[in-house]
Amino acid sequence: MNIDKIDIFEKSQHPIVGAGPCSAESEEQVMHIARALASRGVTFFRAGIWKPRTKPGSFEGVGKEGLPWLKRVREELSMPVATEVATPEHIEQSLAAGIDILWIGARTTANPFAVQEIADALRGVDIPVLVKNPVNPDLELWIGALERLNNAGVTRLGCIHRGFSSYGEKIFRNAPQWQLPLELKRRLPQLPLLCDPSHIAGKRELLALLSQEAMDLNFDGLMIETHHCPECALSDNRQQVVPEELFIILDRLVHRTSDGEGGEISRYRALLDEIDGELMRLIAKRMQIAREIGEVKRERGLRVFQPFRYNETMERFATNSALHSLDVEAMKDIFEVIHSESIRQQLRIVNDI
Ligand code: PEP
Ligand code: MN
Repeated sequence: MNIDKIDIFEKSQHPIVGAGPCSAESEEQVMHIARALASRGVTFFRAGIWKPRTKPGSFEGVGKEGLPWLKRVREELSMPVATEVATPEHIEQSLAAGIDILWIGARTTANPFAVQEIADALRGVDIPVLVKNPVNPDLELWIGALERLNNAGVTRLGCIHRGFSSYGEKIFRNAPQWQLPLELKRRLPQLPLLCDPSHIAGKRELLALLSQEAMDLNFDGLMIETHHCPECALSDNRQQVVPEELFIILDRLVHRTSDGEGGEISRYRALLDEIDGELMRLIAKRMQIAREIGEVKRERGLRVFQPFRYNETMERFATNSALHSLDVEAMKDIFEVIHSESIRQQLRIVNDI
């Protein structure tokens, strides 16, 4: 890929920080937040003008009426401004308003037709474009979007990691799956990589932790949704923070060495954490099924502990350990604990406690 540096990022302090509300809601709201952020040298101001919402009927952004507000931020506060574009029309209107940076949202990146239309609309236009990961964990689709833009002549490209959606109850709104952005960085090291902890977390309590993780993993910057009154925000009100909270998060970031042993080890640790999370999810699923078996045993008046089943299970553990070149005794210890916890869960169901 033919990549040029993004001057706004080059001039920025480290980490690059994009901050501002999920959505521009009114001129007063935009100016109020932007003033607070400008006083602390945030790299660029973000605000969604056109919002891709999951369900119809939610606030879908103020539309082009909000563009002059961003222009005002840029002119009065000398802060570069960024907004999300999803159609050639958005691009045309954003360019006319002098927007400095465009970003492509996760739902758009997932759609090659839409990305191609955007790329075609950007032919011959020299503007930095940040591409968020697609909603699904598909690295090739993410890189494909970058390539479509690059083929159309967009050279000032960057990436934003905002996590990946999945079904069911979860800690994060969008699972970080750090291995994907890390692999992207390995393959395209010349592209600046920002982390959007707001959309990964879905709740402000997790922002500090995720921001630190991103720094430990050598990300170049952060994009954090910031609102003067998060509770009153018309979109994503659980995950936004007031500017003062943003500054606390930024001030508390520990900057560890990004190369050499430190950087390498954090990457491995992130993978281990990911695997631990996966193991935990599987164990939780196993316990759930054990409880369901408990229900059946209760209805049918069956015994919880059935020795033949126990022997069978333990034998399978031993064979599987050998298959994976794992220490049989160590694996037996681990699975004895898992098995006895499953029994305990069943006993509680059968005895109604
Ligand atoms: C946003 O940044 O406000 C946004 C809509 O993000 P995403 O595309 O990551 O959902
Ligand atoms: Mn948002």
